[in-house]
Amino acid sequence: MENCVFCKILRKEIPSEIIYENKKVIAFKDLSPKAPVHLLVVPKKHIASVNDIKEEDKEIVGELFLAARNVAKIAGIQDEGYKLAINVGEGGGQEVFHLHVHLLGGWKNVKKL
Ligand code: 5GP
Ligand code: ZN
Repeated sequence: MENCVFCKILRKEIPSEIIYENKKVIAFKDLSPKAPVHLLVVPKKHIASVNDIKEEDKEIVGELFLAARNVAKIAGIQDEGYKLAINVGEGGGQEVFHLHVHLLGGWKNVKKL
């Protein structure tokens, strides 16, 4: 996807603070954080939104959640807890049309990554 900002980030054409990366998923800091820890967990496959997930993407969706859990651990907020959020479509507040999970937390012991 030529002009997708998250595709550009995962191709390393736009700089970002990458926290985690495996074969299927990448996680980096949100540019305008809304919590002490605010990371975006993103599949490397360009899927526009939850509405565009296909039957064949089942495994990627599983990978996305496992990665979110791993990233929470890396960020040191796995035990205290965190929020995962997915905005779907314009009405759901989605601004970047490449599927992503917001990982928000760090309020309890005010952690900053
Ligand atoms: P959405 O509203 O689509 O669920 O979330 C998009 C998120 O991407 C927003 O929280 C926004 O701050 C973040 N974002 C947008 N552009 C960039 C960028 O170029 N780099 C990073 N790291 N985050 C971005
Ligand atoms: Zn993309």
